[in-house]
Amino acid sequence: MARKYGICGNVSEKSGATLFGIPEGTSARACADMAGVTDVTAVALLMKRDKFEGKVGQTCVIEFLDDEDKSKLVLFGLGNKEGASLKTWKKCLAAAYKAVLKEKESVVRVGLPLTEWDLNESDLQKIAQSVTQLAGRIDYRFDRHKTVSRHEYRGIDELLVLQPETMRSSVFSKLIKPYVDKGDYLARAVNAVRDMVNEPASHMSAATVVREAEMVIKAAENPALTMRCYGKQQLIDMNMGAFLGVNKGSTTEPVLIQVDYNPRNAKKGVHLFLVGKTVIFDTGGHNMKLSGNMDKMKIDMAGGAAMLHTMYVIARLGLPVRVTALLPATDNMIGPDAMMPGDVLTSMCGKKIEITNTDAEGRLCLIDAITHAIAQGATHIVDMATLTGAMIMACGHTAAGIFGNDNEFINTLIDASKVAGEQLHHFPLEEFEEMRPAHKSEISDLVNSAGGGGGHIKAAFFISEFVGNTKWVHLDIAGVAYSPKPTEFDPKGATGFGVTTLVELAEAMST
Ligand SMILES: [Zn+2]
Repeated sequence: MARKYGICGNVSEKSGATLFGIPEGTSARACADMAGVTDVTAVALLMKRDKFEGKVGQTCVIEFLDDEDKSKLVLFGLGNKEGASLKTWKKCLAAAYKAVLKEKESVVRVGLPLTEWDLNESDLQKIAQSVTQLAGRIDYRFDRHKTVSRHEYRGIDELLVLQPETMRSSVFSKLIKPYVDKGDYLARAVNAVRDMVNEPASHMSAATVVREAEMVIKAAENPALTMRCYGKQQLIDMNMGAFLGVNKGSTTEPVLIQVDYNPRNAKKGVHLFLVGKTVIFDTGGHNMKLSGNMDKMKIDMAGGAAMLHTMYVIARLGLPVRVTALLPATDNMIGPDAMMPGDVLTSMCGKKIEITNTDAEGRLCLIDAITHAIAQGATHIVDMATLTGAMIMACGHTAAGIFGNDNEFINTLIDASKVAGEQLHHFPLEEFEEMRPAHKSEISDLVNSAGGGGGHIKAAFFISEFVGNTKWVHLDIAGVAYSPKPTEFDPKGATGFGVTTLVELAEAMST
């Protein structure tokens, strides 16, 4: 996303759209005054035309069609003062952005509801953050494989937050600007994840993920962010037999991408690892997926993609906490050398795994990366994966599953998800203890797939066998990584789920 954004002190520009929130029941005169328009009658007529009363979700577009001034004013309803909240604001602003996109405006200025709503400092900051964050979310399109004209409207490319007249520049820069920035970083990261996940497997490989990571390092502009890659021979030398097993059917080599953020002021005694499933395409292997379920399998790197771009935001914000992302990248294909059902693989930690289902490959990639994380001194591990079909059955496309071995860490993550506005549903493993032995194998230490229902919970138990005493949380995002239809703020397709929650987690862990 190449959008420019920033803050500005006045609205005298002669093009683009300026967005003002209007409380319910505001008179045309007051609206005109607020927006600095002299022709009250025209404003009243337009408000009547659009049936605009200032209710949540309503908008009214006012055009100035003289030679001098080609700008537009978009009034959007704020509803009653009593209903003022971040949630309401997002609904109101979303309606305004949709009106802007309909009007095909590229330059957008947004006024904050400083006098219209009684906001404390923290509320105002969250609202300022949402201006940039929400614009990115709503104004996203994935059309790089369409033949489009150069002249076609490409959405908002300049977004400005207006400095309230009553606030001094220095105060505005100190109080508001960092949150406008944060919203922008999050929007960029989420949309970059969406691009990676929406991109067909024909245009992706472990090597393209490496290039994406290199772009993240460059874009983050923070020397504390570095990366290294482990190629096939190194993975063999490290005994990553589980991860390598998944790659056996592939014509391209696997890569374990490691992105480190190690700032000088990092909090002592904390090293968070983010381990993301990065299966470029999942055919299921010899236990092949049904044809109707396979075309979406380009999304199987959503966990890794989200973790990679989370690192961008963490580095951009300069959070004082040490974080490392690990992306074991490969596809899961069939071929003469592909792993066979019944094979036994030896994982990096030495545990042997009987392959009862070649389609349960994500966990094989994760566990070797987790062993690698523990070897490097991880104090906390979050793994995130589009892991099981059972997860979609359990929580649909609404919530991700959260599982783990430490309730305090689980709660920290759930709190982070609430700040982020992403939904997690906790499955306490202690309540499903009888499922723990499901992965026993007759011929080796474990089977990789137990079958028999509760697959999302059993998968978490499988991974738990490899985390030891390290504080660990597993997020199954099989249902939420991709939306089969448009939602309130998001288009259909990849969602970028997890980025915002993980950034909030890193922020919480840095204090
Ligand atoms: Zn699979």
